[in-house]
Amino acid sequence: MAVAGGWRPEQTHPEIAFLGRSNVGKSSLLNALVRRKAFARVSRTPGRTQEINFFEINGRFVFVDLPGYGYARVAKTKRHEWQSLIDAYLRRTSQLRGVVVLMDVRRDPSDDDLALLEYLAELEIPTLVVITKVDKLGKQAREEAVARILVTTGLDSEQVIPCSAHTGEGRAEVAGAIVDLLEAPPWQKPDDDQ
Ligand code: GDP
Repeated sequence: MAVAGGWRPEQTHPEIAFLGRSNVGKSSLLNALVRRKAFARVSRTPGRTQEINFFEINGRFVFVDLPGYGYARVAKTKRHEWQSLIDAYLRRTSQLRGVVVLMDVRRDPSDDDLALLEYLAELEIPTLVVITKVDKLGKQAREEAVARILVTTGLDSEQVIPCSAHTGEGRAEVAGAIVDLLEAPPWQKPDDDQ
């Protein structure tokens, strides 16, 4: 497949970007969503740890796998690690339909997670939150954990989908929500409208 500017695929297909803390289960979710044969990694940015992977799915849309954040300790005064990752991507996409943010059911949302959600809301980017690894908790503990995440993030329960890449629970709901995102018009920077 042709690669524009040597770093990303041509922007011929709608794109969905995935973001979350390192180890949140992003690769596992991507693998659970897409049968291996159906996708091919088409391009990635140079660099070992900060690469962005682009997966073309069934020749119809692209999943953008942004690097996990929260691994390196970043000084308080420095910009959030995730912000430079997503900004680098946002500068060069005209095909974004939405962002999927992943959060581990066993962890309280971090300051990074919360700041990321706020940032996406400011930029008016349609955002879906997937709560990962729900198989790790029993029913009641899981309900409590999800409720806590909703309170901390201020999200409504319709905006989050509990999911397990291991059992497949929630997979169809996530896929359905992504299909809905894909049908929306491309995201544009709020400023571009003026
Ligand atoms: P990434 O760093 O966000 O891409 O995370 P990975 O997909 O590599 O997963 C990190 C770890 O969490 C691995 O050990 C996975 O096996 C585990 N993991 C991922 N998803 C699930 C899940 O749904 N359930 C359970 N129990 N473990 C998971």
